[in-house]
Amino acid sequence: MKSAQCKKCLKKFHQKDIFTIQQFQYRKIPTYKWSLDFFKKLEIDELDSFCENCMMGYSKKSKAEWDKLKG
Ligand SMILES: [Zn+2]
Repeated sequence: MKSAQCKKCLKKFHQKDIFTIQQFQYRKIPTYKWSLDFFKKLEIDELDSFCENCMMGYSKKSKAEWDKLKG
């Protein structure tokens, strides 16, 4: 049963396939603290569920923003 829903594209998917911004704890840059601030501005917190596609999009978007600011 598909019980989870992506906050961004509203696609339904399986609970086990949920992605959250917590996965960004494991990337070195941007730092997690910076990432949390970035997503806060987009009204996304650590408990929001996303599909893999949207999470990848946010990953790129946040990295691009970081590069713009720090580069
Ligand atoms: Zn999605």
